[in-house]
Amino acid sequence: MPGTRIKQLLRRALGLAAPVVWRTRPRPSLTILTYHRILPADHPARATEQPGMYVSPDALAMQLRVLKQHFTLIGLGDWLGLRASGAELPDRACCITFDDGWRDNYDYGLPVLVAAGVPATVFLVTDFIGSSYRFWPNRLAQLLGRLVVSDMRVLPAELCGLLVRAGFVPTGAPDIAQIDRVIAACKSLSDAAMISLLDAAESLVPVVAGGGSRDLLDETEILAMRDSGLVQFGSHSRRHTRLLPGLTPVQLEDELRGSRSRLEQMVGQPADIFCYPNGDCSPAALALVRTVYRAAVTTVPGWNGPQSDLHLLRRMSVHEDIAADKASFLARVAGLR
Ligand SMILES: [Zn+2]
Repeated sequence: MPGTRIKQLLRRALGLAAPVVWRTRPRPSLTILTYHRILPADHPARATEQPGMYVSPDALAMQLRVLKQHFTLIGLGDWLGLRASGAELPDRACCITFDDGWRDNYDYGLPVLVAAGVPATVFLVTDFIGSSYRFWPNRLAQLLGRLVVSDMRVLPAELCGLLVRAGFVPTGAPDIAQIDRVIAACKSLSDAAMISLLDAAESLVPVVAGGGSRDLLDETEILAMRDSGLVQFGSHSRRHTRLLPGLTPVQLEDELRGSRSRLEQMVGQPADIFCYPNGDCSPAALALVRTVYRAAVTTVPGWNGPQSDLHLLRRMSVHEDIAADKASFLARVAGLR
């Protein structure tokens, strides 16, 4: 297939260009990579999980090997400590981060980190630790993966309208491209609105909720990750609340200060780095994050330089659909794709 061959050549060219690109970046630089789930190729969660949410353990191992050839891999807390003390920073530093606190980070991610000797920061949603809570995109994906045409008539009208506008066609089986598109469209609603729509929809169209399985880390797993000596923890709020304008000062205090104190009680270490849920951050939220945390990471893509705002650190998101081979991964890290 000539098209496939051209794509392969292009990918290889971008991979070769990546180190040339990052040599031009201001130094010392800090590249922070964002991961979510670590799912083996045969893991059932892949059927309904968004492609932008996971890599396989093998892909993670490959990526860490590649990173070691080009970067100084360092814990984000350690990098911040060096910077605060005025010590010399690595010329090109790279930090690994995991968002949301997925149980598969312990099952499949930790062994890879340990084998590679690479540190990481995991951002936890403190109210959901050890629970069977499911984020609304996962609930929606499971619902969409089971819907048949006749179900569309019984769904809440607002949800049905959203699905129709997003071009959703029910097939009774998961169609990941459709699921991805609908989830993106539903982000126009508040989390609370989506959760109440799903509560109603699930009562009308029963879904198999993963057999009540627990997908998020519990305290025992968190402490085992800590005891590896490689993993530190930061806050990702109490309930994954998007910090949009409209939250009251009390809610902001609760999400920001409340999650930090819960986490510090649990892990016995400073939890002084924050990760904005969904990357959302109102001016009031940013002001409070600045007083409660020494740094915070966003979903804005990019590298950080010597002048970067420590409370608006940029990250590069890594997932298998765009970074499964070495050249694609290098191009992604450099921001070329
Ligand atoms: Zn998140």
